[in-house]
Order: sequence, then C-alpha cells, then structure tokens
Amino acid sequence: MKKLILLTISAFTIVVAAQTVDRRAFDPVPDKVVGAINGSAPSDAIVLFDGSNMDAWITAETEEAARWEIDGDAMTVRRGMSTIKTKQAFGDIQLHLEFRPTAVIEGEGQSRGNSGVFLHSLFEVQILDSWENPTYVNGQAGSVYLQYPPLVNAAQEPGEWQSYDIIFKAPVYDGRGNLSEPAYLTVLHNGVLVQNHVELKGATYTPMPEYGMRCVPYSQEREQDCSGKMPITLQDHGQVVSYRNIWVREL
Ligand code: MG
Repeated sequence: MKKLILLTISAFTIVVAAQTVDRRAFDPVPDKVVGAINGSAPSDAIVLFDGSNMDAWITAETEEAARWEIDGDAMTVRRGMSTIKTKQAFGDIQLHLEFRPTAVIEGEGQSRGNSGVFLHSLFEVQILDSWENPTYVNGQAGSVYLQYPPLVNAAQEPGEWQSYDIIFKAPVYDGRGNLSEPAYLTVLHNGVLVQNHVELKGATYTPMPEYGMRCVPYSQEREQDCSGKMPITLQDHGQVVSYRNIWVREL
C-alpha cells in the first residue's frame, strides 16, 4: 500500500512538473522594424525604386544602364526598352511592387498589359491586364507562368495601380549539383492571396520547367552559375506597364 501511494505521488509530481515546464523564450529578441505604413518601405527594406532614379537596375541582356522612362513616382516600360534586372542579387526575399497596365487597351489576351516579375531571374509571376481579358488561366495576372493559375482573379481595371507582395524561398543545391530543396512562392495580389506557398516546378522558360545549377536567366544568352543569389528581373513584353514603390527584404 505504501509503495502504491509513493508511486502515485511520483506520477503526480511528474505530471505537475511537465505542466509547469517554462516554454517562454526570451531570446533572440526580434529586431525592431517600422512597417510599410502609408505606402512607405519598411525600415529594414532595400528600396529598389522610389521614383527618384533607376540606380538599382540595369538592362538584363547588356548590363548597360536601364532605359525605362521615369515619370513622377513611376517608371514605365514600352516596347523595345528591354527587360531589366536588379544590380543586386538576392536569395530568400519578401518583395513588394506596384504595377499599372496602361489604360489604353490595344491588344488582347497575352498582348494586353503584359510584363512580369522573375524571381531569381528564372521564375515568372505574370503581370497582365486581367480585367475582363480572358486567356489561359496559368498565364493570367497572379499566375506562376505556365505552372499555377491564381487562386482568384484580383485584377483591377486597366490604368489602376495594383500590388504584388511576394514571399520567395530560393532553391537549394547540394555540393554535388543536385537540387536539395525546390523554390517556393507565395503571392498576394492587391492584398488577396493568389499563390499559397506553391512548389515551383523549375525555371519558366526552359522547354519544360527544370532546375539546374547552370542556367540561362530570362532574356539573357550566357549560361551561368545559378546556385547562389540571383537578381530580380522585370519583363519588357512589348506593352506599356508602369511600376512604382518597389522594395525588398532579405529573409
Ligand atoms: Mg509576362
């Protein structure tokens, strides 16, 4: 009987001890960051474009100065101004950008307000005027081009400013050149979730989506090492699209 009581007391002590384990953490203390309030970039963001200049960008193919037009707080691509990329390369990021397909409707489908943002210069999140403009669904605004249609169509009317907030997890390669972790994307279009941590199947413009430590970034010709950080690319697809308020946070 004494043994049983002792056993019961021990078991009770263990249960109580388990319940009182202190699970609170006191470090590391998160850094203080002033958020994106009233359209400003967060205090720890790298500003890629705020209307003042295009110093963060170069022409993707030639690596010469970017030739897009600056007007007020926006920069605009027109046919022939060429795809641009950031001078800086990035790994995992949170990216914010605002874009505006022209209000002047000329083409249709893929020829209406088409541009795009390429994470790692390889994976395109489509920019398109998708306001009452049918096309294949994995090519409309908010799609991961030719891989995933958006969960909903959150497009605004042409001529209205829109936003993307993108969380990008870069692919990881092991020392032997094999893919150990694919890339992932989450996209909010005008604050609405359109891609929810989708696993990317590979680069957008290889014949079939594929990964490789050696790759040819979009709109470039030379093969290069793609296993590390890579620039962000914005597409010249021959239509008029403006951008403003572009910032990135490294994760
Ligand atoms: Mg495009």
